[in-house]
Formats: sequence, C-alpha cells, structure tokens
Amino acid sequence: MTPLDFSNVPLADNHCHGIYRTQTPVDVAAWRGLFTESSDLGMRSKHATTTLFYRRLVREMATFFNCEPTEESILVARQKLDEQDLIRSFLRAANFDVLFIDKGYPPQDLLLSDATVSNLANCRVAPMLRVELLMQRLITENATLSAVIEALRAVLSDVRGQGYVALKSIVAYRTGLDIRTWTTDDVEEAFAVARREVYETGSIRLAHKPLLDTLLHVTFEEAAQQELPIQFHTGYGDADADMLLANPLHLRAVLEHREYRAMPVVLLHESYPYTQQGAYLATVYENVYFDLSYGIPFLGYHEMLEFTRAAFSVAPFSKLLYSSDAVGVPEIHWISALNGRSILEQVLGECIEHGDLSSTEAEEAGVAVLHDNAIRLYRY
Ligand SMILES: [Zn+2]
Repeated sequence: MTPLDFSNVPLADNHCHGIYRTQTPVDVAAWRGLFTESSDLGMRSKHATTTLFYRRLVREMATFFNCEPTEESILVARQKLDEQDLIRSFLRAANFDVLFIDKGYPPQDLLLSDATVSNLANCRVAPMLRVELLMQRLITENATLSAVIEALRAVLSDVRGQGYVALKSIVAYRTGLDIRTWTTDDVEEAFAVARREVYETGSIRLAHKPLLDTLLHVTFEEAAQQELPIQFHTGYGDADADMLLANPLHLRAVLEHREYRAMPVVLLHESYPYTQQGAYLATVYENVYFDLSYGIPFLGYHEMLEFTRAAFSVAPFSKLLYSSDAVGVPEIHWISALNGRSILEQVLGECIEHGDLSSTEAEEAGVAVLHDNAIRLYRY
C-alpha cells in the first residue's frame, strides 16, 4: 500500500488571524506568550516552553532554519531574517490556496494588510466579520435599542457585498453558547446598563447577556437569508472563556430554530475537549460543520491524533474543515500545516487499514478536509 501524501495539497485554512507588522518580539517572554492561552505571567514566561506543542515547534523550526534545536538558536535564526522574508518563507512553505482571516483580532493597526499577506503567502485572503465588535460599535453610536437593531440589520443586509465571506461570533467566551430569547424589559434593561458603560468609559465590552443574545438573533436572521456561514468559537480558547458554557451542545436552541437552518454553522477548535459532542452535532444537523484546528489549541501529537480520529469516526468528512487558528507570527500558520497534513495522512491511513475507506476514498477525504469543503462552504 502506498502511504498517503498530502504534502502537495494546497490548504484552505478556514479560520486564522492576521500577521503582525513587527515580527521581533520585545523579549523571550513575549515570544513564549504567543504559545499559551493563559494570561498568567508565570505561564507565559516559564511553563509555556514545556508543552509538547512548543518542544515540537522548536525542533521543526530548527530543521527549517538548519540550526541547533534550542529556543535560543531558533530565535537568533528568525531575527537574522528580514521580516518580510521570514513571513514569506514560512507561509509559502505551508502552501496555502486561501487564508480565511477573522478580522476581529488582533487589532488591525498591529497587522499587515490582507493584500500584503496575500502577496507574501502567494495565496488568496478571505476576510470574516466578527459580529460582537460590530455590535459594540453600533451600541456606542446609537442611543436607543431599536436604532441599534435597525443599524445592525442594515450593516448585515449584504455581508458578501462588503467583501466578507462569513461571520464569526465569540459569544462562547462573553456570555456563553446558550443563546436565549429574552423579554423586551430584560433587553432594554441590559441596553441601559451598556449605554451607561459607554457614557462613563467611552466604549463597551459587550457581555450583557440579554442584549448580546438578542442582537445575535437579528444576526442569525440576516445570515440565514443570505445562506451565510457563521463561525462560533467553541471549547478551548481565550482565558476568559467559561469552558462549561463553551460546550457546543448549548447551541441546541439555535440549531433547532427552523428559520436559521439556511445558515451554515461552523464549530471552531474541534470544540476541544468537547470534540465528540461537536462532531455529533455535525452528524445530526445538515447545516453544522466541524473545524479541525492544528495550531491552536496548542496540543501534542497524540491529542491531535485523537481528536482527528474522533471527528472522522463520528462526523461525515464532507463536514470537516482544516484550520490553524494561527495568530500573529507565521510559524503557527506553518506548523499547523505540517501537523494537519501529517495527522490526516496517519488517520486516513488507519481508515484504509481498518477497511473504513479505500485508498481512493481516503485520498478524496483528505483533499476535501484540507481544501475543497471550505471552498464550497464559503463560496470562495
Ligand atoms: Zn481564532
């Protein structure tokens, strides 16, 4: 049997973030901080180096730079390169067709433009709109709830026309995925609290549940009308996530809503550690898709194998999508590409061995997950 080889399949990375303009970290702790979701200082300065993910990254980077496999050597090697060369060489080595970029994080002024990234990576860039940031802006700009809703409908009435291919929501780590329907009194009360925050501080961090849930329902109506995909952060992620409320099973009310069925829902980050639950949702709801992210969460090889085995064993492979969730430095986009391809080769190889798939089918499944499914889903 010839082993599977996906090294030449161009990737559609269906969820990642932009690349920093400045690639030189201020110090080694700032660099290490890129590889943990924890905001605790000791985690960033110390423990982030003792994860399997980090040790693997150092070794792979050393091979890439042809230097000693130590943190010190790889940092010296990366700083010798001109920043644009550094980005170009990692992104081109990863071989992308499209990067689907969440425009909501990090702040745009820290990042290279999409056109520059597209140029350096020699691939297409498809932007995605983070809805909570849009909502926050509209709440600061409008004095009444009905004006905010009207403005939100107007902005979301033609999302593709504005150049975005999808929406992204971070409600999981604001108020949780159990998005409910609230009474007008509850929503107005939450809106009043939000407006007071605007008045006192000049901005707002939208975590007022009745208000956020209500604006999300408006968003879903608009997305369904345009058959526009929405990505939800699920599971492991930013330190402010209440992991219990990031379980995708909380989305049941939204998924059961008949009028929202035309809106494809992408569960990000393999819903880790709720991978089986997330994959299950992708088997029972036609509009649910399941993202397999090989950059963030920062996992060791065994756990990447496990979530990939679980996803393939539970969900139809026409619903699975490759991603990195990479942020800021091109090394994460790149290591994720290495990891994702090699894990898929191994897992799909096992599927052939066990009689689940023929070699031709395994080949097709790999290309579908690494590339074709995302192209079809986002119509890009
Ligand atoms: Zn992300």
